[in-house]
Amino acid sequence: MNRDPSCLFCRIIAGEIPAARVFEDADTLAFRDIAPAAPAHLLVVPKEHIASLADCADGRDELLGRLLGAAARVARQERLGSWRTVINAGAAAGQTVGHLHLHLLAGRDFSWPPG
Ligand code: AMP
Repeated sequence: MNRDPSCLFCRIIAGEIPAARVFEDADTLAFRDIAPAAPAHLLVVPKEHIASLADCADGRDELLGRLLGAAARVARQERLGSWRTVINAGAAAGQTVGHLHLHLLAGRDFSWPPG
């Protein structure tokens, strides 16, 4: 499985950096965001290093589907009720960590369109 030893989330996945892990399967890991933007804020990541959804090669649809499925499973496990998912792709969109991750946010009202 592709891994970048200098990547923060690859290091969390490997257990080298601590995180509050809430869900794990063969392909994905979910853990609590260290700077929550909502009462519940989790990150769901593929275990394989993919820098961004924008860099995701054709043919990875199955992995992307597993990421979404894992998000829904975490939402049920954490009893989130209504929730929002966000994937920032690229710096201008707010991506600060170069490992594909899905934000799962809940516990407050969210405006639309997002700011
Ligand atoms: P983004 O801005 O979309 O790239 O999201 C990156 C997220 O990673 C931010 O919400 C950060 O608060 C979160 N984050 C950064 N470092 C850690 C960490 N060590 N453990 C958990 N979440 C982190």
